[in-house]
Amino acid sequence: MRVAKRMRDLGTETAFAVSAEACAIRESGRKIYPFHLGDMNIRTPKNIIEAASKAMEDGKTGYCPTSGIPELREEIARKLGAQRGLKLSKENVSIQPGGKPVISKFIMAFMDPGDEVLYPNPGYPIYESQIKFHGGVPKPYGFIATDMGFDLDLDQIERSVTKKTKILIFNNYHNPMGAEAGDEELKRLAEICAKNDLLVLSDEAYFDIKYSGERRSIASLPGMPERTVILYTFSKSFAMTGWRLGAAIGPEWMIKEITRLNVNDESCSNHFIQWGALEGLRNPNGETEKIVGILRERRDVAIDMLNGIRGIKTFRPECTFYLFPDVTDAMKNLGINNLEDFRRFALDTTGVSFCTREHFGTPMKGETRKYIRVAYSGIDVKEIREGLAKLKEAIEDPEIVKGWKSGGYSNHL
Ligand code: PLP
Repeated sequence: MRVAKRMRDLGTETAFAVSAEACAIRESGRKIYPFHLGDMNIRTPKNIIEAASKAMEDGKTGYCPTSGIPELREEIARKLGAQRGLKLSKENVSIQPGGKPVISKFIMAFMDPGDEVLYPNPGYPIYESQIKFHGGVPKPYGFIATDMGFDLDLDQIERSVTKKTKILIFNNYHNPMGAEAGDEELKRLAEICAKNDLLVLSDEAYFDIKYSGERRSIASLPGMPERTVILYTFSKSFAMTGWRLGAAIGPEWMIKEITRLNVNDESCSNHFIQWGALEGLRNPNGETEKIVGILRERRDVAIDMLNGIRGIKTFRPECTFYLFPDVTDAMKNLGINNLEDFRRFALDTTGVSFCTREHFGTPMKGETRKYIRVAYSGIDVKEIREGLAKLKEAIEDPEIVKGWKSGGYSNHL
């Protein structure tokens, strides 16, 4: 009864609930194959660890400027600006304790209650949570499945814009689908944003997790630099998920407002970690490429194995560490009607743990196919092979589903 009313509108990231459930099962002694969370079991590069540790020893343990240490802001402006074809200075950068806080701070700084915000669905669930929490009107936009992956439903985006629409959230190199916009899609999306004077949050958490082809930021398209804030994070590029360091990058007037929120929220991001991150940017030593190499091998094994399971079909994303297999036919063959039951079936009979489409937003009108999300950032090749072999057996052997439905099976395989 003492909880503030606004807390009713705060959502959550249900992938963490799936993870907690899997951990509890593991603690009870059963084998789990963790495909559920975008966490990484790859080590942070040694030079970053050493630089952070040295910074600690050198006394970089007090507060630092609210917007971050100037050296790191300058390096981010120089390096990330060059990668994206943007001319930036440190005034365009505000250091954050992770990429996630950029979402809430962007919404708080630029959305008034009643404003409409376009955001991807399926998509990272924190967008909808933060829009609702701060009194905005969430307007989800969807994707169209093709043989090559998923395209943005640009017609739907265009139709959804009203006079009240103020913001578009875009996540190229997309969680959970591994979708990637082509040049024409990006161009048209940028035109829609400029024409309707929308502010844009470009979530580029996976910009560096790219297996082939050029990387593109919508921020570099005509009319976009002046209206776009980039969410950057060290989490995935340098295997630093638990370190909590990221940045908001954008026009000076927007970055100033975000930094005002830093003062109120955390004073400053962790001081010595910023020196570690600076080392990572200044002396990359091919570490990000090594991480991408490890992930590529896992991706290829997982895709081949998933596509070898009757009734499952997945395309080969060239970015992120997520697969988004269509499991509609597998579910039909098993006589399982809803995704949560399918998830439980896999978990109960094989220990294979994954999230489903439903952890990434309420399915849109007209959506008929069923998808799961398979994250391969926290599981080695050997375990991928073992887990997905068990999943194949469970899906293809009619006795197993029969046993599961009668309640007799627990971690059968
Ligand atoms: N954006 C997307 C699309 C993500 O998937 C994540 C993490 O999984 C984040 C932002 C936030 O990452 P972090 O807060 O670790 O930087």
